[in-house]
Amino acid sequence: MSFDENLQIKSFVNYKKAYQESLKNPEKFWDKVANHFIWKSKWNKTLTWDFKKPEVKWFEGGKLNITENCLDRHLEKQPNKDAIIWEPNDPNEESRHITYKQLYLKVCQFANVLKNNGIKKGDRVCIYMPMIPELTVAMLACARIGAIHSIVFAGFSSEAIASRINDATCKILITANNYYRGRKSVELKAICDQALKNTPSIETVIVYRRTVNPTPMKEGRDKFWFDELQKVPTQNEAEEMDSEDPLFILYTSGSTGKPKGMVHTTGGYLIGTAFSFQNVFQPSKNDIYWCSADIGWITGHSYIVYGPLAAGVTTVMFEGVPSYPDYNRFWEIIEKYKITQFYTAPTAIRALAKQSITHVEKHDLSSLKVLGSVGEPINEEAWHWFNDNIGKGNCPIVDTWWQTETGSIMISPLAGITATRPTFATLPLPGVQPALMNEDGKEIEFNNQKAEGILTIKAPWPAIARTVWGDHERYKNTYFSTYKGKYFTGDAAYRDASGNYRITGRVDDVIIVSGHNLGTAPIENAINEHEKVAESAIVGFPHEVKGKSLYAFVILYHEEDASEELKEEIKKQVANVIGPIAKPERIQFVPELPKTRSGKIMRRILRKIAAHKTDDLGDISTLENDDIVKKIIDKAILD
Ligand code: ATP
Ligand code: MG
Repeated sequence: MSFDENLQIKSFVNYKKAYQESLKNPEKFWDKVANHFIWKSKWNKTLTWDFKKPEVKWFEGGKLNITENCLDRHLEKQPNKDAIIWEPNDPNEESRHITYKQLYLKVCQFANVLKNNGIKKGDRVCIYMPMIPELTVAMLACARIGAIHSIVFAGFSSEAIASRINDATCKILITANNYYRGRKSVELKAICDQALKNTPSIETVIVYRRTVNPTPMKEGRDKFWFDELQKVPTQNEAEEMDSEDPLFILYTSGSTGKPKGMVHTTGGYLIGTAFSFQNVFQPSKNDIYWCSADIGWITGHSYIVYGPLAAGVTTVMFEGVPSYPDYNRFWEIIEKYKITQFYTAPTAIRALAKQSITHVEKHDLSSLKVLGSVGEPINEEAWHWFNDNIGKGNCPIVDTWWQTETGSIMISPLAGITATRPTFATLPLPGVQPALMNEDGKEIEFNNQKAEGILTIKAPWPAIARTVWGDHERYKNTYFSTYKGKYFTGDAAYRDASGNYRITGRVDDVIIVSGHNLGTAPIENAINEHEKVAESAIVGFPHEVKGKSLYAFVILYHEEDASEELKEEIKKQVANVIGPIAKPERIQFVPELPKTRSGKIMRRILRKIAAHKTDDLGDISTLENDDIVKKIIDKAILD
């Protein structure tokens, strides 16, 4: 066997073996993994697929409930182990420890609340809550009764909630009255009320009272969480779900356009998240794992909730932000709970690296064993900062490449097993078959030579999204029409002679200058290496001679460093690291970059600014900082 009783692959030799097994006979491989879980009845066909249709089915005919695998399964062996440790926004408020037994009871009880409010298998439930344990309870309660959860990040506006509720015709909305994010009070219920003016499908709203602030309630429609609990017992029989029954809908970050409502199903998603979690993070029995993402994103779904709980690991949930009360907060949390695996995003790492290092030095981070990154390419400087200051050179960094659509991590080192390398997501997980495509749309076969191309995946893995909610055509067009028979990721990648992958940026953002294909990540990486540069984003703009020229938006550590000389130094730096071809023609110093609420740079907006086409910025519903866009436009470099 290439993996142990926890599904963990323990050596590089076994990784290679597992990878080969998964290629040679995917059905046999995933059968072995799936056999570790509780099924109410076994599947009769492991995999059916056709990327042309497109259609994917895993473990057909199998019956299960994912919550029995995340909760009931652990009750005998570890009922009193913490399932969730919750750290509140305000460090003076008490943290909460919720054991597997307690979480199980809460989920069962809230499942009864949903049923009592007329929610049935297949109904859609919108959840708009802060990062509190009740968010996890609500999502698992949906899964318990077979309702489909659609979680909307609590930082989104009323229009964003309304459009998501309407897209999936949700029947019920679960929210909180209010919460604090850093110093800011967020009036969640008031925002919901605004949205609810245009959401005819919502019949009931359940409100968790997170703070003592007054809560506007509408008679007949709105009910308090606590009151509803009083009406129901804590026993709940888990609904029998088909392996292919939808588990949830989740919208993508909207970095490249209008967010897509991806649909994930039950069996494959469980198997994919559990297996990848065990292998990428290699948790042992008493580990305390912390992923700092929000549950409103796929990272939170798969690696705060489903993956860790399926593995029976203690997962930490943090309600606040890295800057509150000050930039000590993350390091304080790591010290407080003796975190062993810490999974975060490049945007957070870069923000933290800009602060004084004394914040880090004040804390004992020696409990850490593994560091992780996800969401964007991590640039070399940020990687080293993370490695040296947080991991103290002792913690492998797992740079995990994946997407809302993939459901689970696709390309990543396995901690302590795969050799890491800055800016490289390294090797595919077992069951994942990447392929690079050249400009003629042909696969660049791997023959121990380096290559660059468009990243596609050749065959399905268990956690692949099955459709876009209500729009299978969009699913087909977006992912399966560019290359026949292959899943199109939308990302470009470089592969070294040993088969290690480096994500070089979005295909949409690839810039062709004088016939050369340039990815955004390597150029930004080179710019960020300059000691005065904190962060940067690069886009192309039309150029008469070269076709395209490069425009760089650069954030400095100290704004007062901005000068023409510095621009020249940056250009020189890029010329040295990559070559003169990649030198940006224009450089604009900016105080911030436009980002999605999940922390990703929205290059499509910068592209419009660089091309002076700012009349229509496209879908900006997921933009975090609108105000910065105007500031950048005002100072944009014109001809
Ligand atoms: P949309 O699809 O709506 O444009 P999005 O692609 O940002 O938004 P997500 O599913 O949250 O939505 O993000 C997935 C994308 O994030 C990947 O396609 C890739 O571009 C980027 N990404 C994620 N992890 C990594 C990583 N480790 N290295 C490089 N890029 C990454
Ligand atoms: Mg995407």
